[in-house]
Amino acid sequence: MERLREGARTFGIELDDEQLRAFQIYLDELLAWNQKFNLTSITDPDQIISKHFLDSLSLFTVLSPQPSALSILDLGAGAGFPVVALKIVRPDWRVTLLEATRKKCDFLQHMLDVLQLQDARVLWGRAETIAHEASEREQYDLVVARAVAELSALAEYMLPFAKPLGVCVAWKGEQIEAELNAAKNVYGQLGGRLREVKAVQVPGIEQQRHLVVIEKVSRTPRTYPRREGVPSKKPLT
Ligand code: SAH
Repeated sequence: MERLREGARTFGIELDDEQLRAFQIYLDELLAWNQKFNLTSITDPDQIISKHFLDSLSLFTVLSPQPSALSILDLGAGAGFPVVALKIVRPDWRVTLLEATRKKCDFLQHMLDVLQLQDARVLWGRAETIAHEASEREQYDLVVARAVAELSALAEYMLPFAKPLGVCVAWKGEQIEAELNAAKNVYGQLGGRLREVKAVQVPGIEQQRHLVVIEKVSRTPRTYPRREGVPSKKPLT
C-alpha cells in the first residue's frame, strides 16, 4: 500500500490512512470474488495497485483544477475501474456505475456497501438503451470509460450521457494512432469535439498510457446511440 501512496503522489494526490485502508479492502474483496467468477485477469497485488488503482487515478493528470461535486458516469464499470477507485479519493463526487453484466453489478453493489460509499449507484444495462432514458441522457458532468470499446463506438456510447459542456474521458493504451484516426470525424456527428490526447506514465506500468478527452459542445442527435450492438459492429466513420 506504500506503493499506492507514493504512486498517487505523482498525480498530486495525498492519500490518507483511511483511504489506504479502503483500497486494501477493495483489493481483498476483488481477489476473493475473483475466485468465484472472473473479474480481473490480474491477481498480483502489486499489479492491481499499478494497473487498476493507479491507472484509474491517472484521471487527475487531465482534470485540474479538481472541481467538487461532479456527477460522473462510469460506462462499462466492470470491477469498478476507474470510478470506484476515484470515489475513494473524491467521496464528494456523485457516481453512477453502468454495467451490462449482472454479476459484475452484484460485485459493484457489494463494494459500495462494504466501503460505505454515499451518493453512488449501480445501473444494470447497456449504454445503447440507457442513454435514451430521459433521466440519464445528457445528465453527467463527466463520463469515463476504460477498456470498453474502440473510440468510434465509445464516442457513440459516451457523448449522449454528457451534459452540454460536459467532458468524456477514455482510457487507452500505448498504440492509439489508428483508433484516433478512425474516430476523427465521429465526435462532431455526436455533438463532441476532441480536446486533448494526454500521454500518461503510470507508476509500475512500463507502456505509456493515454487519456483521450472529448468535450461536449452541442446536443447529441436523438438517433444516437443506435440500437444495441450497432455502434461496435458498424462504427460511425
Ligand atoms: N472498465 C473496467 C471493465 C472493462 S471490461 C476496467 O477497465 O477494468 C468492459 C466492461 O464493459 C464489461 O464488464 C462489459 O460488460 C461492459 N460493457 C461493454 N459494452 C457495454 C455497453 N454497451 N453498455 C454497458 N456496459 C458495457
